[in-house]
Amino acid sequence: MKEKIEKALKNVIINDNNIIESDLVKKIDWSNKKIIIYLSLDNPTMHFKKKLIRDITLSIKNKNILYPICVKIEEANTKKMKPIIKNIIAVASGKGGVGKSTIATNIAVSLVQMGFHVGLLDADIYGPSIPLMFDIKEKDISSTRSHHPNHRMINPIIRYGVKIISIGFFSKYGEAIVWRGPMVTKVFRQFMHQTDWGELDFLIVDLPPGTGDIHLSLLQEISLKGIVLVSTSQKIALYDVNRSVGMFRIESIYVPILGIIENMSYFIQNEKKYFLFGKDGVKNFSKEMNLFFIGEIPLLQNIQEYSDLGIPVVLENDYIRNIFIGITKNIINQLS
Ligand code: ADP
Repeated sequence: MKEKIEKALKNVIINDNNIIESDLVKKIDWSNKKIIIYLSLDNPTMHFKKKLIRDITLSIKNKNILYPICVKIEEANTKKMKPIIKNIIAVASGKGGVGKSTIATNIAVSLVQMGFHVGLLDADIYGPSIPLMFDIKEKDISSTRSHHPNHRMINPIIRYGVKIISIGFFSKYGEAIVWRGPMVTKVFRQFMHQTDWGELDFLIVDLPPGTGDIHLSLLQEISLKGIVLVSTSQKIALYDVNRSVGMFRIESIYVPILGIIENMSYFIQNEKKYFLFGKDGVKNFSKEMNLFFIGEIPLLQNIQEYSDLGIPVVLENDYIRNIFIGITKNIINQLS
């Protein structure tokens, strides 16, 4: 009987390996005309557990074993190996081009400057720009997998103290990433669980803009502490960010929104402020939607210039650093 059950379980695959060979099955009990499978898993999400139980039940039933099946999953006690990530925060936007990745980058570096251990996961499959913002070149990327002593683990690339993994590391420059939800989920799961993050106080996740299937897949994979929204103030941007708010507030995927940042709020010339995209659009929207207003960032040539150079602007410009430190502190306060 045991062999038959094990054979069935070999059809259940996690991260390219079956659960018997990856040693996740700790015990199989069929002593009472009932099959109880004990599994030990690292950091499973509810969604992941449910799917696994479904797969296991189906595989056993397919072998014509008719006993009732019970799957018990416990968290693996691998404290020494297990990466500990205290806070996972995602940065999201309704539209592309509003500065989401720039803000994720500079929040990550500000957190490092505040003394935290920080990771940055670029999950923006539509335009993974984190490698550019940290000037990470193709030759740097080849070292992510090959040099890790455990071949299943990926080494993040470390820049300015931030441990970075990007979906862009695994596609060639200029090549579109045309993955469907399940593929994205698979890669994202590997990034989360097979990256050698070590201990992190914060993992910042740069989500793709907008709403959709990809977001649902990504959100089901991680227990987020919260979402930081980024928008500019014109109606067309607010219209889309409104949809994002709706998505994060859907009961089945509910994720707390920590607040919203207004980017490119104004630019200053001859000591006068010009509100290119409308004044206080995001601030007013935050009141209407009962969202915390995290802060505003002006439109500044320096921000664009440094991001093109691959240097986080907070490292070079004190005025912007102070703005980002204020924003980052507001986000931390929202967590508590
Ligand atoms: P998204 O991630 O929302 O698509 P990015 O972060 O890639 O947007 O930003 C788009 C462009 O706008 C980049 O060139 C970036 O340097 C620039 N940018 C972002 N925020 C500002 C700002 N406050 N002032 C000037 N340029 C900005």
